[in-house]
Amino acid sequence: MHTLGTRVEDFITWANHEAATRGLVHEAIPPDPHGRIGTERFRRSLAWHIARRPGGLVALAIQYGHLRTSVAAGYAARSRDGIHDLLDVETARATIDTVADLNADLEDGLGISGPAARRAIKAAATAPQYTGTLITARQARQILANPHLAVYDNPHTLLMCVYKRDKALCHRGLKDTPSLDQCVPACANIARTDQHATGLRLRATVLDQQAGHAPGPLGERLPGNAARLRDLADAHHRARISLQDGTA
Ligand code: SF4
Repeated sequence: MHTLGTRVEDFITWANHEAATRGLVHEAIPPDPHGRIGTERFRRSLAWHIARRPGGLVALAIQYGHLRTSVAAGYAARSRDGIHDLLDVETARATIDTVADLNADLEDGLGISGPAARRAIKAAATAPQYTGTLITARQARQILANPHLAVYDNPHTLLMCVYKRDKALCHRGLKDTPSLDQCVPACANIARTDQHATGLRLRATVLDQQAGHAPGPLGERLPGNAARLRDLADAHHRARISLQDGTA
């Protein structure tokens, strides 16, 4: 741990030296009012940034899911406060951020469609009771264990997975978390928002542009893929419900 702490400080010195010699002073890491960045704060910052990257909640909840049960056990034994609690708290915070953002967007008139749309709305409605409060490790575990808050935004597939284990088609109910990289379009856990539909149309436009430059079979396939994405966006707009128009 001492070595890691020293290396964090060495890295800051190196980064600031590089920024100064290249004339990139705005890239320098400023002094921290709370003193040296120890390993505890470094790990917390790391977890915070992972949780808030696009799809980051998924990264924490899924990629670190196994870490909680394997690597973390050994790590925690050597660490004063352990990494379990840190990961749980950051994942829970990101979970609450996801449903709070959805709640705010729904109140602003966002439309949502898909078999899991009403479950997503229900999850979003619980957000106000958690926002603005400090989350302890114990509360974090309760939040993560709450099946009604299992909402995963999946930017890659432009949908939201409102996870219910017994409905999952990606792994036939074998796991506590979804396999988002193996998402099945017919799954009953899918919800789509207006933002996802906009993303689908943008992606379709990009595919059409690529088709103009792609040779042979690839160039022939791309317009079909673009049409499928537009069909999904059209289906969303036909089925969307919202709080504003009283359909939700
Ligand atoms: S198939 Fe997709 S929507 Fe269904 S549970 Fe798996 S990841 Fe979620």
